[in-house]
Amino acid sequence: MQARCQQISSRTGLVGLLGHPVLHSLSPVMLNAAFAAQKLDMVYLAFDVAPDDLSRAVEGMRSLGMHGANVTVPHKEKVVGLLDAADSLALRVGAVNTIVNDGDRLVGYNTDVAGFLAALRLVRDEGARGLRCLVAGAGGAARAVVAALCDDAAEEVWVYNRTASRALSLCATAASWGQTICCPLSVDELPAQVAAADLIVNATSVGLETSVKVSPIPVDNLDSRQIVMDLVYGPNPTVLVAAAMATGARALDGREMLVMQAASSYRLWTGMEPPVATMRESLDR
Ligand code: NAP
Repeated sequence: MQARCQQISSRTGLVGLLGHPVLHSLSPVMLNAAFAAQKLDMVYLAFDVAPDDLSRAVEGMRSLGMHGANVTVPHKEKVVGLLDAADSLALRVGAVNTIVNDGDRLVGYNTDVAGFLAALRLVRDEGARGLRCLVAGAGGAARAVVAALCDDAAEEVWVYNRTASRALSLCATAASWGQTICCPLSVDELPAQVAAADLIVNATSVGLETSVKVSPIPVDNLDSRQIVMDLVYGPNPTVLVAAAMATGARALDGREMLVMQAASSYRLWTGMEPPVATMRESLDR
């Protein structure tokens, strides 16, 4: 720790994570390992920003001259309107997970889309092509997942969300994202569609609180031919990932997506190729 602090000077660039909560996040460990591996004079810190403080935090990024930030739960959608600009993908998805301070403007990007597809390709070479998919959630991460599935030619995407109106609105928006059919699901339809899906994704925050041992998706109908991805990660498998693994399904938690979305963010902040192997290894320490 002392050695690390001695490397920080008045020239050190600051990148931050804006979220609520952030204590679970492995992004600081992973990105500081990457900066150190490439000897970049930059540091990554996590900031717990309550929803009412988001606009002040974004203004603070300008005042403090921060290089950039990641944005996580629950701010990815609200932050879009607080920035000077956003790239076309972030505007289409309606969610930003990466901010770059380009000198006098804060510009938003969405690297979750690429991060999700890269993680999916680890378990299926063809990605989402031709798959029937069930996505739980309709927040910032779910919007990125649905965009990724549509862009990657999934056959159908069924969206279930606790607040049904948000699933309806996401599916209405996604209707213009390609040939993929997107339909909202009611809670009553969920068990049958779990059985019918090829790919099941948890993009809700359920599981983030590790003491809460529930799955947002019923697990009784999972089977071994399926792919199950939980965007949540933690020290132990989530209830959903554990149940999927027990059936012999291909199951992934959110770590690989975390690495791959961070790799894209790193390129945007530094203009350099990220040390992906170092980033992955840092998560196991
Ligand atoms: P968000 O915008 O705040 O959305 C949260 C979503 O979770 C909403 O759909 C919400 O439903 C649902 N939800 C929250 N509490 C719930 C509960 N108790 N029961 C059922 N549904 C609940 O957050 P986000 O940015 O989309 O992030 C969602 C999760 O994905 C977080 O855990 C985040 O850490 C994770 N994530 C991981 C990665 C990665 O790289 N691994 C990347 C992005 C996100 P309502 O609409 O009903 O409130």
